[in-house]
Amino acid sequence: MKPVNLCLVIVVALTGLLAACGKHEAIAPEPAGPAPAAAPAVAPGATAKPDPLPDTEWSLHGEDVGEQRYSPLDQVNRGNVDQLGLAWFFNMYTRRGIEATPLMVDGTLYVSGSWSMVYALDARSGELKWFYDPKVERAFLARGCCDAVNRGVAYKDGKIFVATYDGRLVALNAADGKELWNVQTTDREQSYTITGAPRIARNKVVIGNGGAELGVRGYVSAYDIDSGDMAWRFYTVPGNPADGFENDAMKMAAKTWKGEWWKYGGGGTVWDSMVYDPELDLLYIGVGNGSPWNQAVRSPGGGDNLFLASIVALKPDTGEYVWHYQTTPGDTWDYTATQHIMLAELEIDGKPRKVLMQAPKNGFFYIIDRATGELLAADAFSSPITWATHVDMETGRPVETANARVFDGKNITIPSNAGAHNWFPMSFNPQTGLVYFPSFVLPVAFLAPTEDKDRLPSQGYWNVGFDRMGNAAPEIPEAALAAEIDKNVYGSLIAWDPLARKIRWAQEPGRPTNGGTLSTAGGLVFHGGKDTHIVATDAETGEVLWSSDAQTAVLAPPITYALDGEQYIAVAVGIGGGLATEAGPVVHAWKVPNLSRVLVYKLGATASLPPVPNAERAMPKPAAVTVDRETIEQGQVVYQRHCSYCHGDGLRTGGVTPDLRWSNQGIHDQWQEIVREGIFESRGMVSFKQFVSAGEAEAIRQYVLHEANRRYRELNPEQE
Ligand code: CA
Repeated sequence: MKPVNLCLVIVVALTGLLAACGKHEAIAPEPAGPAPAAAPAVAPGATAKPDPLPDTEWSLHGEDVGEQRYSPLDQVNRGNVDQLGLAWFFNMYTRRGIEATPLMVDGTLYVSGSWSMVYALDARSGELKWFYDPKVERAFLARGCCDAVNRGVAYKDGKIFVATYDGRLVALNAADGKELWNVQTTDREQSYTITGAPRIARNKVVIGNGGAELGVRGYVSAYDIDSGDMAWRFYTVPGNPADGFENDAMKMAAKTWKGEWWKYGGGGTVWDSMVYDPELDLLYIGVGNGSPWNQAVRSPGGGDNLFLASIVALKPDTGEYVWHYQTTPGDTWDYTATQHIMLAELEIDGKPRKVLMQAPKNGFFYIIDRATGELLAADAFSSPITWATHVDMETGRPVETANARVFDGKNITIPSNAGAHNWFPMSFNPQTGLVYFPSFVLPVAFLAPTEDKDRLPSQGYWNVGFDRMGNAAPEIPEAALAAEIDKNVYGSLIAWDPLARKIRWAQEPGRPTNGGTLSTAGGLVFHGGKDTHIVATDAETGEVLWSSDAQTAVLAPPITYALDGEQYIAVAVGIGGGLATEAGPVVHAWKVPNLSRVLVYKLGATASLPPVPNAERAMPKPAAVTVDRETIEQGQVVYQRHCSYCHGDGLRTGGVTPDLRWSNQGIHDQWQEIVREGIFESRGMVSFKQFVSAGEAEAIRQYVLHEANRRYRELNPEQE
């Protein structure tokens, strides 16, 4: 096959290139510190009288105001975690990605699922108290990058706040789920989506949005919690200077841009982390990548492009700019700084400092003075890092490598656009002084932009300034592809020591499906492990002390709470999100089913999950390909450009979208209507008429048939 003249070669595209990227060595744990004080021994014959455990809620997104995700509960601890069992589970109503942090307030668990649905469950029994469906238009799937996920609700004064995938912010009565107010925070004609959890800053609820892959301008807005009236809006990147700037911060930011960036939206979406700091009365927001990714297209001639890939501090009353720190100046790799922002007080150089910590996609762990924005530490937590050698502590800027911006398809970039760490929340344990988060390695190669670089991104058209090519070109068998992925794509849970500025321990690398973390005073870290397990790890040593099969990937962070003297661990599970859509082949190789559920554990419980239903569907025998090689190749190019972001690179889907190779005759018969007329819009498959001609749609179909026949022969060798 002649090489496709493109692109961004994602993850598994060129196996030869990937073979050069070996696994890093497992990092041996350092000698453990002093063991925590043992519980007082009970004399033989005496009755142990444990202290009564007060009811303990989890009412804020990150547990405490600093979002440390550390619980003082220790009934479940290193000594007894092996007795942890399933207390109950709840089946959610959808089969897409689950990323939410549940809240537990006054005996009720509030969990958001895919499509921004909210479930209120009895926290003791799992019984459904109420259910809220915001009825998001499914066509909005084509306006987002990474599945119809939702990372959680906020609670304040008897109200639950949820942000919806189609850009609304909704207040619900926590008692019965009735809508109190419902406001549109975005322009529905543009490709804005919301997957993040709202945050409360005193009497306001704050929300950002996503869409920087599809040409939007990022911002955050604050709404009055009672009326739903908008109090302020802060844009993260400047608009067209001819229209005037909203404030001095935008005027300052515009000096760091070149060209006509506003035509592409500019990006800078605040799609995940925001934290309100009551001590300093500041709101910190994490700002995302540029739109498009490729800076040469977005801002030809360079510039820092503020406030892309930055943490920005705002006054929560007015939205006024206070300070910023940019982690990746002139971002061109999708290195967002939207990842978890955690507040803490650390003693640095003998002085207590109020800091914030972040491990963004770019591979460096940052500690920043949260009063001033001063950089206090920036150290690599991932290896290798190809784009920068280190961060210069004098200037506070990264020192880029010579090849950092060479995009020729041969130059491997690590971390990839998925990052060395993504949205998966971290946790801190003040007893160990360590920060726990999942890190992964997922190599990528970018190619220079092609003729499509001037075409503006929009719904259904993800223009990041690089095109991309699929893995189908090398025509390697499915099993060999899976083996390549296993060898080159991996992740592990790491324990970062922010004072020593290095990794204390890391678990042996496995699949990069590790989830967000929870730390407890029981000396434990709870997290999704590789494959499909919920795991309890010893916070000191990294040793796995307990694990339980969740039957699907555990991406969301667990929480813990106590009721009637018992400690519970709760987690929402279900494969999906960016890994399953954008990097579909990675998940495809592992065949992880989506079983969207809430799982709740406590000591001595003995409930069990039903057996995993057999979802394996026999492949229908595909019809013969009726076109020449050139048409198939054309179909592949068009598929990669328009379809692969959802249906998977090289037709390998991550499981939340149909595997097109399995399409039956009925699908093939209606192909034109599906692709160009939008007859499946109610399922999220919008019309691609404006991008794909009838001839191109047929070429895609022939490419699918070609690949389906190849796979059919692999599965049915006896019919050869
Ligand atoms: Ca992005």
